[in-house]
Amino acid sequence: ERQELLQASAALAQMQDGKRVEVVANIGSAADARTAVKNGAEGVGLLRTEFLFLARNSAPNEEEQYQQLVEIGKEMGDRPIIVRTLDIGGDKEVPYLQLPQEANPFLGVRATRLMLKEKGLFNAQLRAILRASQAYRYRIMFPMIASLWELEAAKQALEAAHQELEAEGIGHRWPMEVGIMVEIPSAAVLSGILAPEVDFFSIGTNDLTQYTLAAERGNPQLSGYADGLHPAVVQLIAEVCDNAHRAGKWVGVCGELAGDLEALPVLIGLGVDELSMNPGSIPKAKAYIRKLTTSMVKPLAEEVRSARDTQESRRIAAQFYRGQN
Ligand code: PEP
Ligand code: MG
Repeated sequence: ERQELLQASAALAQMQDGKRVEVVANIGSAADARTAVKNGAEGVGLLRTEFLFLARNSAPNEEEQYQQLVEIGKEMGDRPIIVRTLDIGGDKEVPYLQLPQEANPFLGVRATRLMLKEKGLFNAQLRAILRASQAYRYRIMFPMIASLWELEAAKQALEAAHQELEAEGIGHRWPMEVGIMVEIPSAAVLSGILAPEVDFFSIGTNDLTQYTLAAERGNPQLSGYADGLHPAVVQLIAEVCDNAHRAGKWVGVCGELAGDLEALPVLIGLGVDELSMNPGSIPKAKAYIRKLTTSMVKPLAEEVRSARDTQESRRIAAQFYRGQN
């Protein structure tokens, strides 16, 4: 049965009414990329580049990063790959960078905030991405954006990397498609202002849930609190989809919620265009999408969106799932 699922997974996922949902993978290495393709990934929705910095004693230089991206590109072929710039800090530590201790690292100088300070590190990564994009379909994504100015500053750093490569006569792609993670509540609330400035959004439900509910994602005592189907999170996701579509942009989800089969029809009903998940979850997700129709998932999403608490939203989602499976 697993073999049949895998075989069917090679085809695109289309709902009963013909609507397409893009199913892509979260990866951290070339080996993951290979697994993703085997499982039917149509591309990569999230390449976590922090993983390319782990299990080493020092940061890879531009050339090494370029080679890593080429290796991943070879596995993915002509499929699109969303590469996320370094998301270091909070739950993602890179010991050799020796960053200052902070009282609240989850609320600290992390991810894009850190890269805007560590200009050399950011520049090397951006150059490597631009160069690797000459041969492969990389799209760039900035994590942990909270305000418009951060996106503008990150885009300026990208533009500067392009100008440098241009002046040095080094081959690279320009322009690039640029998106952001929507994983801080301020970005979700301001998604209408951010949408015109990007090509796409990818909602990081792990962090969006953590920050919306003030419930740390890795704390097992809080696992019941940090549920992405909490109605407050669902309302934010709905707003992000509406604001993106109004500006003609598309929206993905790359948090764990995307691979949660109970949540999947809710996300599609809210308007999510692309789901990015662990490679192993892709065959079942595609098979499930093929059973759904837009006229089923829209009312489901509305119902979950107006639930009063997580118990209620989960009950509605679970009941719908049982009815289909
Ligand atoms: C997220 O926050 O939901 C996400 C996909 O990114 P990460 O899990 O790497 O923080
Ligand atoms: Mg995150």
